[in-house]
Amino acid sequence: MVSETQLGADVEADAGTEATGDVTASNSLAAVPITVARGDGIGPEIMDATLRILEAAGARLAIEEVEIGEAVYARGHSAGIEPGSWDSLRRTKVFLKAPITTPQGGGFKSLNVTIRKSLGLFANVRPCVAYAPFVQTRHEGMGMVIVRENEEDLYAGIEHRQTDEVMQCLKVISRPGCERIVRYAFDYARANGRKKVTCFTKDNIMKLTDGLFHKVFDEIAVEYPEIENEHWIVDIGAAKLADTPEIFDVIVMPNLYGDILSDVAAQIAGSVGLAGSANIGEHGAMFEAIHGSAPRRAGQDVANPSGLLLAAVMMLVHIGQPDVAERVHNAWLATLEAGITTYDIASPGATPVGTAAFATAVIERIGTSPVTLPAVTYPADQPPLAIPPALQHEPQTKTMDGVDVFLHYYDRDPAVLAEALTAAAGDASLKLQLITNRGVKVWPNGLPETFCTDHWRARFQSAEAGATTRSDVLDLLHRLDKAGLDFIKTEGLYRFDGELGYSLAQGQ
Ligand code: NAD
Repeated sequence: MVSETQLGADVEADAGTEATGDVTASNSLAAVPITVARGDGIGPEIMDATLRILEAAGARLAIEEVEIGEAVYARGHSAGIEPGSWDSLRRTKVFLKAPITTPQGGGFKSLNVTIRKSLGLFANVRPCVAYAPFVQTRHEGMGMVIVRENEEDLYAGIEHRQTDEVMQCLKVISRPGCERIVRYAFDYARANGRKKVTCFTKDNIMKLTDGLFHKVFDEIAVEYPEIENEHWIVDIGAAKLADTPEIFDVIVMPNLYGDILSDVAAQIAGSVGLAGSANIGEHGAMFEAIHGSAPRRAGQDVANPSGLLLAAVMMLVHIGQPDVAERVHNAWLATLEAGITTYDIASPGATPVGTAAFATAVIERIGTSPVTLPAVTYPADQPPLAIPPALQHEPQTKTMDGVDVFLHYYDRDPAVLAEALTAAAGDASLKLQLITNRGVKVWPNGLPETFCTDHWRARFQSAEAGATTRSDVLDLLHRLDKAGLDFIKTEGLYRFDGELGYSLAQGQ
């Protein structure tokens, strides 16, 4: 169901021009169509507060309201959104979204992941700022922006149960995906006067997937000589971020690390309740608080609307209303300076206000600026960041050295499996080279101490590198099948322009 209301002036016929870069159009007084969802839990309260402030600040919005979340899941829509709502999102291309409650258990898909991926919202931009001395923080100088890749990594949602004992989740990292997000991070840094872009990965362990992200970061960094660049292994990077966040400026990360560390960064800056985020893509943009629906706080008029409000500020800049964004942001900063806060960021001894009263306090300060905290400015003539294209590259020469066959096998003795595989393969052109269990080599010459599950990887290779054909693989699998061996998947061992496209086993 879609319902419509209007804030501000006449409806702009085509919001797409506003959102994608026509500055002349973007400064018009026409109302821009946006889609709004109030969500679940504290969502409706913080959305009410946010919309009241936007209206009072003169935002020119034609709001299409859609329903998402718990009630929609309950009506049998597995991603928590109805077909009519997609029509609205595709029409307006701008989504201001309150948090929803994700149902527990199987059969449901994450609405957030579905929207981000369906609309190609590849970049998640999360500013994490300290507001000392008005919001308690141990990191007064903190003012970083986390740019999180939003579509790939372990969030590809490709998970399988493969054996009695083993589940698998595929980590998918693509070159176009890395190029886009890294370029966006550097473009963002350049456009916003940032001095440094840092990359976090775990490429000492995941040499191909995280290795690609790091490699692309190094390739693209040289195109931005005026911006310092550095790479940290994510574990020590995360420790530094928690300890001395002020040393970071813009950090770009693959999806999972970005998800976790942007919550950490927001919390140590002051509160998760203060952080907004923008999800940016070619076909639209979604703006939301980074926190969830906090069901325990729902309906009590206590939740902090600031995260959603700051997301709305990012939205106003995106749709070409920087004047309104500036008014809202500065009024909000002035409210913090006046000591008016919700419970989550209230100083010891101070009396917190409720959600609605906080919104009223911000409205009362529209037109004022903070005195101690730096006032924000959003220049009227700054065009929106261009969306980097997802480039297709020339295919490389691909050759195959062999195949990894994954098996479900009950006997825990690798020697027994090796004997069965060797006998089954017989005179096949692919020969058994090694067996691993959970990635550790257990045959030949494994250690008896290594614990083995029922999930095995057997590596078969041809005598000569690059000499394996798909028919060789099919012949091998046919032989294993005839011997009753339960292969559950295969992975080709490829080289691209001669470069290894597979990892060596631990212990190999
Ligand atoms: P949460 O962020 O909703 O809440 C955790 C705690 O943080 C709350 O109990 C509350 O004490 C505090 N908090 C969060 N937002 C606040 C605010 N605006 N003002 C004051 N205090 C606030 O995390 P959760 O409890 O793990 O998740 C609750 C539900 O939200 C789950 O169903 C989860 O799946 C969902 N969720 C949705 C989104 C989204 O829609 N974008 C994001 C994260 C979690």
